[in-house]
Amino acid sequence: MSKIRVYELAKNLGISSKKMISILEELDIDIKNHMSTLDEDIAKLVEDVVDEEKNDKQKRIKKDFKKVKQEPSKGKTENKNKKDKKTDSKGSGGMDRRVILPDKISVKELASKINKEPAQVIKKLFDYGVMATINQEIDFDSASIIVEEFGLKAEKEKNIVDEEENMFDIKQPDNPESLVPRPPIVTIMGHVDHGKTSLLDAIRETNVTAQEAGGITQHIGAYKINVDGKQIVFLDTPGHEAFTAMRARGAKVTDISVLVVAADDGVMPQTIEAINHSKAAKVPIIVAINKIDKPNANPDRVKQQLSEHGLIPEDWGGDTICVPVSALKKQGLDNLLEMILLVAEVAELKANPNRPAVGTIIEAKLDRGRGPVATVLVQNGTLKIGDAIVAGSAYGRVRAMIDDKGERVKQAGPSMPVEVLGLSDVPHAGDLLYTVEDDKLARQIADKRKEKQREAEFKASHQKVSLEELFNQIEKGEVKELNIIIKADVQGSVEALKQALERLSNDEVEVKVIHGGVGAITETDIMLAAASNAIVIGFNVRPEGNARKVAEKEQVDVRTYRVIYNAIEDIQLAMKGVLEPKFEETIQGRLEVRAVFKISGVGVIAGCYVLEGKVTRNSQVRVIRDGVIIFEGKVESLKRFKEDVKEVTAGYECGIGLEKFNDIKEGDILEVFVLKEVRES
Ligand code: GDP
Repeated sequence: MSKIRVYELAKNLGISSKKMISILEELDIDIKNHMSTLDEDIAKLVEDVVDEEKNDKQKRIKKDFKKVKQEPSKGKTENKNKKDKKTDSKGSGGMDRRVILPDKISVKELASKINKEPAQVIKKLFDYGVMATINQEIDFDSASIIVEEFGLKAEKEKNIVDEEENMFDIKQPDNPESLVPRPPIVTIMGHVDHGKTSLLDAIRETNVTAQEAGGITQHIGAYKINVDGKQIVFLDTPGHEAFTAMRARGAKVTDISVLVVAADDGVMPQTIEAINHSKAAKVPIIVAINKIDKPNANPDRVKQQLSEHGLIPEDWGGDTICVPVSALKKQGLDNLLEMILLVAEVAELKANPNRPAVGTIIEAKLDRGRGPVATVLVQNGTLKIGDAIVAGSAYGRVRAMIDDKGERVKQAGPSMPVEVLGLSDVPHAGDLLYTVEDDKLARQIADKRKEKQREAEFKASHQKVSLEELFNQIEKGEVKELNIIIKADVQGSVEALKQALERLSNDEVEVKVIHGGVGAITETDIMLAAASNAIVIGFNVRPEGNARKVAEKEQVDVRTYRVIYNAIEDIQLAMKGVLEPKFEETIQGRLEVRAVFKISGVGVIAGCYVLEGKVTRNSQVRVIRDGVIIFEGKVESLKRFKEDVKEVTAGYECGIGLEKFNDIKEGDILEVFVLKEVRES
């Protein structure tokens, strides 16, 4: 590939090196100075940009404006789908100083879009002989001239009625004839220390073929191996947490999950979580019974336990494939891979490589030298260098692609993981990546999304199932299944609740407990709920640490109870549409018990530190030990340095006595709340 120096190219194109460098910056191309060299394709890109800029004529716009003034706002904007853009008259070569405007915009909105006072806009309009008030709407052409006057560039918003429609026939099913088999994408799950990472590493090490061995394996978030000419893709982040977090963002990437169970340890809490998370996603499970090299390995016990959780091994008459392996001794791996290919074959995983690409971001970061770097798993179509892309609210053009062996590639077909350079921003894991017509459209879609995102955050609309509106949704036929996650202090309660709740199923709604477990409500529970549109019921347990915040963000309905009957009653009433919560609690703060004092005649005083929020003398308190509620009651006394006080805020220490409770321990968490009556609707 021939190269050209920055200053040479600038000279050829008749622009200054400085301007050239600013264009390169706009394009996210990293260069040191004007002596740096550029690849041919980049030079071409720059040339296009310069051409486009040159095409601009300020005069034309002025002329347009005069016409508009003569025949105001005749909907003749359609045919002005301006190909040519206007150079920024105020210099500084700022391509970024574009303002996207709709067909019509009020003076006020326009002013805020360009960060000016409405009065300034009104004055400019006045200069052009247009009298406008602050709330008056002006059309695109008029608005664009005002924008120009302020040294910015106006660009017409494409009518993105339905974004998806603009993205090449994404929803359109592929013609069956165009489909070809694609490699399966596998996630490894299981309990901590059962060998997930070891298994991923062992598979990678043993399956790098001779000619690939030269390449240094890169951790890009996924890797591809070859087994007798067939390929398998493994996601590099093991565990159901990442899997479900992606699912909560609407992404379905995994085709098969491999559940690792250590033969010496058996089925453990996270094993069960992994099973439930896979089931909720309807992803087939293959069990790898690991550590069979250990003297105390007991695969039969593992199979027994798996059966208890609905995974009946094949050799016991069920349909769950169980493969004994040792990640450490690299035993049984071939067999495991063979089984993966078998399940993949049955699933008939197919895609059409001959169409614009759609994929999912599985990892993304900001790299100092390279800018935003995102690993994309192409799910359909083929991604090529130069493609205009959108991922979440990031957009750009594929500048380079690097595969899991560290090799630069020119294209990436279905199931292929590649690092993509050229995005404007760092997208989120789980964001879909689409190819669109051109980068302008990509940018518009991304901008629109940002706007939508902001709106959504603003409104925090409740589309997720909440008990309050369950009935509405049942009536509208929007829910047929009420998914529930149960967390309780003891297994007995989980079982009791599960049975009682599932018995509430009727003709309209099936009540389904998709996961149950012992312990505090975790962030992972919330993500599973968000991904599966479930509500979370805590019995004698509370959301831990961050889980409450995540629940708020994801709009997951979390309900906690101390009496099983109340939980059942609430669900029952909600299904009948008569749920009326009389009280709503507001969490005021969280405190940590740092010392306990026994004072004769007074009782026990907890020396506390207010972690967040505040505590007041009339607060209610919940004492939480290891995520389990052990007491609920009232604050009896609140002191700071022996003085009675009304409230103590975050960052301060205080002494608290609880009404009728003396069993406080160091390390306990006090959750402080007040109950407010909710008005009847
Ligand atoms: P993860 O938490 O599930 O990712 O588990 P790791 O892969 O980190 O493994 C946990 C521990 O188990 C490590 O000390 C590994 O060396 C060990 N381990 C993993 N696989 C095997 C195995 O097949 N046999 C034996 N004996 N040890 C193993």
